[in-house]
Amino acid sequence: MLKVMIPTNATSEQAAIPESWQHLKIDLHTHSWCSDGALSPTELVSVAQEQDVKMLALTDHDSLDGLAEARQACHEAGIQFVNGMELSTQWKGIPLHVVVLGFDEGQPEVHQAVEHNQQIRKERAYRIALRLKRQGLPDIFDDVCKEAGDSQIGRPHFARVMVQRQLVKDEEAAFRQYLGNNKLGQIREVWPDMTDCLPKLSGCQLILAHPSRYKLTSSKLKRLLADFKACGGNGIEVSSGNDNPQLVRFHETLSRDLGLKASVGSDFHGHFGPWTNVGKFTPVDERQIDPVWYEWLS
Ligand code: AMP
Ligand code: MN
Ligand code: MN
Ligand code: MN
Repeated sequence: MLKVMIPTNATSEQAAIPESWQHLKIDLHTHSWCSDGALSPTELVSVAQEQDVKMLALTDHDSLDGLAEARQACHEAGIQFVNGMELSTQWKGIPLHVVVLGFDEGQPEVHQAVEHNQQIRKERAYRIALRLKRQGLPDIFDDVCKEAGDSQIGRPHFARVMVQRQLVKDEEAAFRQYLGNNKLGQIREVWPDMTDCLPKLSGCQLILAHPSRYKLTSSKLKRLLADFKACGGNGIEVSSGNDNPQLVRFHETLSRDLGLKASVGSDFHGHFGPWTNVGKFTPVDERQIDPVWYEWLS
């Protein structure tokens, strides 16, 4: 018999949710060294297992390279695995990240989207290096390519090289001085427009990542979400990284009011501080949202 928990203000639909689905420890936003994370997919899964995570998505930036390894490691660890990646895109010149979840690994549209962005990443890296050089810094392009190796090259690889070459104190300073938003290393308009790339990925769960990290006013964020939904977006991350409870309550309201599913994730890149871990983020109120991960539970 199905055991159910009936919250006092639950709708009849919510009342049918098995208790075992609720408060499940999950993480639908993580990175490995296939993009800018520090760990291999297998090491990431080991951390997830230590943290008692029951469902995990690997969502490397514009990369599918770690999925097979992570899936195998999850299989061995008894963790449910969800295919994922974090797609770089833009809306009106503002770079945005969309967490794409739940696709089949062979889905050609997903491969096309990723390959398109990988080409952009290479060209963008060259342009970033050139801009830094024009600014008076040494030419670090070759070092950054070496640092990235087979990983999808991104600004964190620039930051690491800048630290190694003692051009900055730490990676945070590299972003603050050179690579962050509105600095010369952030080339804003290279990514495909959301209205072009999202409709091609219909059939996947398309989740706007970390909605409060774009520093938009709430009315602009609502306009973005309306456009996002119109081109096929169907969810938002209500709790991501170190979003505080107040922010999470705001995201829950947005998700409910706009009819968007809710996703959650640590955005783990490695053990860079005591506050990051796989499966670690402010808890959500599952009665107030439509959790995307219920799709994959049975
Ligand atoms: P990219 O994919 O090249 O646009 O780089 C974006 C990545 O840089 C994000 O996914 C983070 O991992 C990292 N990042 C962004 N801002 C900062 C920051 N201020 N300090 C450290 N890392 C950052
Ligand atoms: Mn990253
Ligand atoms: Mn992101
Ligand atoms: Mn991420």
